[in-house]
Amino acid sequence: MNNHISEHDELILEVKNLKKFYKAKTNSHFFGKKENLEAVGGIDLSVYKGEIIGIIGESGCGKSTLGKLLVNLEPPTDGEILFRGTPVQEMLQKHPAEFRKTVQMVFQNPFDTFLQTETIEKIMIRPLQLYASDLSHDEQLQNVIAILEEGGLRPAQDFLPRYPHELSGGQLQRISILRSMLLNPAFLVVDEPVSMLDVSVRADVINMILDLKEKYQTSIIFISHDISVVRYVADHIAVMYLGRIVEEGSTEELLSNPKHPYTKALISNCMTIDLDHPVKRIKIKGEIPSPINPGPGCYFCKRCYAAKCICQETYPDKTQITDNHFAYCHLLCQEGEKSIES
Ligand code: SF4
Repeated sequence: MNNHISEHDELILEVKNLKKFYKAKTNSHFFGKKENLEAVGGIDLSVYKGEIIGIIGESGCGKSTLGKLLVNLEPPTDGEILFRGTPVQEMLQKHPAEFRKTVQMVFQNPFDTFLQTETIEKIMIRPLQLYASDLSHDEQLQNVIAILEEGGLRPAQDFLPRYPHELSGGQLQRISILRSMLLNPAFLVVDEPVSMLDVSVRADVINMILDLKEKYQTSIIFISHDISVVRYVADHIAVMYLGRIVEEGSTEELLSNPKHPYTKALISNCMTIDLDHPVKRIKIKGEIPSPINPGPGCYFCKRCYAAKCICQETYPDKTQITDNHFAYCHLLCQEGEKSIES
C-alpha cells in the first residue's frame, strides 16, 4: 500500500503497472514500419478518499493520457485499475451506469466541452436525466439550481436559459466542474482546469474545486504543468516524465526536499512558486524527447545535468526516501538511499 495515508483511510482508486502504447510510424524503417510510442509506461498510483493528488510535468509527458485512462476514456494497453477494489473492466461489464456516475473528468478548455446550441439548463440537467431518472424533472432542476448557486453562479435562474458563448471562460469552467459534481462522484480527474482562464478568476475556480471536494469528500487527480497551482491544492504530488512517475511524495515533503534532478529543475524554473528557501535556477537541456523507444536507460538522461554512465544503460529502481516519498534516480542509490526493488 501507498504510505501517504493511514491504513484506516478508504482506498478509492488503485492503479497497477498501467501502460498505454500507440503505434507510430517512424522514418528509420523501410516500408513504413510502425513502432510503439510509450505514452504511459507503467504507472502505480493509489488514491484515497477525499485526497487530491497533483500530477505535474511538461506538456507531452503523458499526464492527460493518464487522466483519460483513469476514467476509461481510453483503454489501457496493459495494467490494471481497481475502483474500490473492483477491476474497472468488471465494473463496466456489470454496472456501467454506476461507474459513469462515480467517475468524472473535467477538461482544460471549457469552450470545447459543450455543444454551443444547448442552453445551460439542458447541459446541466442531462447527467441527471441519464443517471438519476428516479427524480422528477422538477427535482432534477432544483438539484441543478442548488449546485449552480453553491458554485457562485447566482441567481442560477439567470444562467439556465443562456448559451455557452454568452458566458465567460471562468463561468463556463465552473459549469463544467459543477456538472461533473452533480452526481456526487467519488473520483474526479481535472485536467489543467485553470490554465486557459484569465489569471484574475483562477483562484476563485480553484477555491470552488477545494470547497466542493471538502463538502463531498471527492478524491481528485489534479493535472497541471504549474507547480504553484498544484502546491496550493494537492495533498500529494506525482512528477511525470515521458510517461512515467519519476518522483512522488506529500506536497510539503516533495517541494521542500526534492530528490530527482527533473523535479529539482521544475521547481527551480517555476517563477510563481513561493518557497520558504531560495533555490538556484537549474537549466533543463533541450526538449522533451520522443516517447518512441525511450529506453533502455533513464528517460531523462539526455537532458539531465547530473547524468552518469550508468544512467544511459539501465532504468533506475524505485528508491524510498521517507515513508511518503520516493524517486527513481541512480544518484539516490549511490547516496545510500534505500532502493526497494533491488
Ligand atoms: Fe539524471 Fe541519472 Fe538520475 Fe536519470 S538516473 S535523473 S540521468 S542522475
